[in-house]
Amino acid sequence: MQNSENHITLITPTAPMAVATHGGRAKCLQRLVRMELPVPLTVALSFRAVKEIAAGRMPDLSELTSVFDGGALLCVRPSSEDPDWGGPEAVLNIGMNDATYVELSDRVGQEAAAQLYLRFVKYFSVHVARLDPDAFDEITAKGSEGLRAALAAYEEETDEPFPQSREKQLAEVLRSMARAWEGTSARLLRQAKGAPADAGLGLIVQQMVLGIGAGECGSGVIQFVNSDTGQPQITGRYLSQSQGREALLQREALYLECDARGPSLQEHAPQAFDELLDFGARMRRRLREEMEIEFTIENGHAHIIDGLRVKRSNRAALRIAVDLAESGVIDRAEAVMRIQPRALSELLHRQVDPTAKRDRIGRGVAASPGAATGRIVFDSAEAQASAARFEACILVRRETQPEDIRGMHAAAGVLTERGGMTSHAAVIGRGLGLPCVVGVEDLRFNLRKKTLVTKDGRLFKAGDVITVDGTTGDVLAGEPAMLEAALDDSLQTLMEWADEFRDIEIRANADTPADAQTARNFKAQGIGLARTEHMFFEADRLTAMREMIFADTAEDRRAALDRILPMQRADFIDLFRIMQGLPVCIRLFDPPLHEFLPSDRGGLLNLAEALDLPVSDVTRRAEQLEEYNPMLGLRGVRLGVTVPEIYEMQARAIFEATIEASREGEPVVPEIMIPLVSAKREVELVKTRVDAVAAAVRTETGRDFTYRLGVMAETPRACLRAGDIASHAAFMSFGTNDLTQMTYGLSRDDAGRFMSAYVTEGVYPEDPFHTLDLDGVGELLQLAAERARETRPEITLSICGEHGGNPESIAFCRSAGLDYVSCSPFRVPGARLAAAQFAL
Ligand code: PEP
Ligand code: MG
Repeated sequence: MQNSENHITLITPTAPMAVATHGGRAKCLQRLVRMELPVPLTVALSFRAVKEIAAGRMPDLSELTSVFDGGALLCVRPSSEDPDWGGPEAVLNIGMNDATYVELSDRVGQEAAAQLYLRFVKYFSVHVARLDPDAFDEITAKGSEGLRAALAAYEEETDEPFPQSREKQLAEVLRSMARAWEGTSARLLRQAKGAPADAGLGLIVQQMVLGIGAGECGSGVIQFVNSDTGQPQITGRYLSQSQGREALLQREALYLECDARGPSLQEHAPQAFDELLDFGARMRRRLREEMEIEFTIENGHAHIIDGLRVKRSNRAALRIAVDLAESGVIDRAEAVMRIQPRALSELLHRQVDPTAKRDRIGRGVAASPGAATGRIVFDSAEAQASAARFEACILVRRETQPEDIRGMHAAAGVLTERGGMTSHAAVIGRGLGLPCVVGVEDLRFNLRKKTLVTKDGRLFKAGDVITVDGTTGDVLAGEPAMLEAALDDSLQTLMEWADEFRDIEIRANADTPADAQTARNFKAQGIGLARTEHMFFEADRLTAMREMIFADTAEDRRAALDRILPMQRADFIDLFRIMQGLPVCIRLFDPPLHEFLPSDRGGLLNLAEALDLPVSDVTRRAEQLEEYNPMLGLRGVRLGVTVPEIYEMQARAIFEATIEASREGEPVVPEIMIPLVSAKREVELVKTRVDAVAAAVRTETGRDFTYRLGVMAETPRACLRAGDIASHAAFMSFGTNDLTQMTYGLSRDDAGRFMSAYVTEGVYPEDPFHTLDLDGVGELLQLAAERARETRPEITLSICGEHGGNPESIAFCRSAGLDYVSCSPFRVPGARLAAAQFAL
């Protein structure tokens, strides 16, 4: 049976039917029919047909109902394009009336028949006829007595007897389901899940296998993998003499497989159980997916009512994709395509259990993924004290500074009032894999009183327990249930497959041996950015760094640099050793000086003690160094040009480390990167000095080595003049954090405060510090890449701003012909996967 335009169609192997016109459930049932599985007769109504019904144009249903056996009961279920978009609840037992009641009473007994009829009358009255639910809730009697009361209540409310015609009942059910889909709340709900505004609903009408009657009858649900882990496991429940998904609600329902937990279907009805296993295996092969089967058993034999893609956690999705590929059901490329790169973050970090209750007290920028619970502490010393007591804590700061690094190491998570995706806390947090929320708009931070106050006046003090969810940007009160990170073999396997397809390299931004080790573990192909100023965040080193910055004379500076040199040399030897011959790109100092100045009187006092100077001297020098706009001040190469000894010391440390590390294996070829350039002459000056240091080290040691010198393009001028600048650069890496800041004229440290308003208002489609602005920053990048390649076709081009870990930005970098992207170590797996998907 097919109406003229295929809008009401009996599901047969060849009936024209598509997910886009009839929905996923209808299409899936058709595939089961093609496999000759025992699926009851089913008719599918297309989106168009349902839309017509919602508009009050009910088609002639006589042809539809004639398909089914005369006295058979029917059920109707929704069939939307994506099952996650929801839809009205299934309605069972359409066609129950006085006559079928009598007939059923003979077959299954009067009580069971009355119960079935009663349930249908109640459901129909409340959900379809929309009568007052109270009138039916009051009916507590069961069986025939309850049935009589319900029929009477219906008649009382409508002045009509309960409809006896199966066709009329069906028409009413279809109308109510079609209208429910059009309702405002249903629409908003599915749009929140990503459905388009005009998403359609299909409906399927199916002849029921009752699940009630003589012999073994019942219903249940079965799947063959665990939804949380993806491991093979038969799960589900079965209940004799039941319908639909009732088994999932009843305690007395059976388990499926022989199981220590209780009686099972396998023991109770072994033949039906074996049939289900066979159906399951065939469905997995043909549908190329793990399916949940809703089944009914009639007289000892199983029937398939419905098949649904198994609901799964991200962890399970990964395992299922890998298992399907390993058993030859799908190929490796498809397995790689099936996993969302963003989902990997959930596997690499602890997360708030998605089913846990969330008591949200604030929201900020989701700066470093994962979730952590702990007691609030307001400074780094308290964080360290807390760690010493083995007590988890959340470090709460206005914004973090280099001296907070120890506190960050000691804390389970970080929360800052200010900042955005590329502020100090965010960059360090991602490097450490430490959950971090920054730029919180709706919590008042009072650091003097050591309190946090919510908009509605809830007060949180030091010692109170909160949770930061760096995946969503939420700050939660208390300790919600967590899911542990799940690094298992499947992840490794999928990553290896992804690497087979990928055509852009992935490196990591890593400053410390621990970062470098993480980068290696995640199979980064080198270090794309080692920020050397980050190597001076530890307290003793910070002092040495400050001594150097605070030096008044060249002599004092030289003395400070002599102390720093061996530290740097040791740092680089460590990085080279860990990376075992993979490229390591070391960026020369780029300290926004203000980040290294003490921020308060206590800090100035400490520094005065360390330098053995009066506080007044230290204060005066700090004032001299203060800049109105430090992010645009004496940073990067500007420091290299004006205080050349610093870069010279670093070059020497790199070369001496190169010689040392090369003794042990393959010769190391370091990459030296000059930050924040905007003119060719800057590069010339630094290059001349670095070459001179190399020559001196060669002479002193009698050892030869090579190195590559390149630049960071992170000012608009550097991009515009890339052709010029490239003449002195073996490589050019786009620092898109600064490039975004400078292209927009938007402070990367302050944008977090108003970013959400800007995104909500549609000024920016997304936070440009998070997802590369392809139109503006992207155009600069493309233009620079072209100009640089024109001058020097073999130049290595890359990106090392935070965007390097963002899938959309990776797609852009590939299309712009970049050689590699570099991102925080924990984002490397996601970047590897995203890059593979774009190549496929
Ligand atoms: C950049 O600006 O993109 C960059 C990588 O450098 P930093 O974040 O250290 O300024
Ligand atoms: Mg930068």
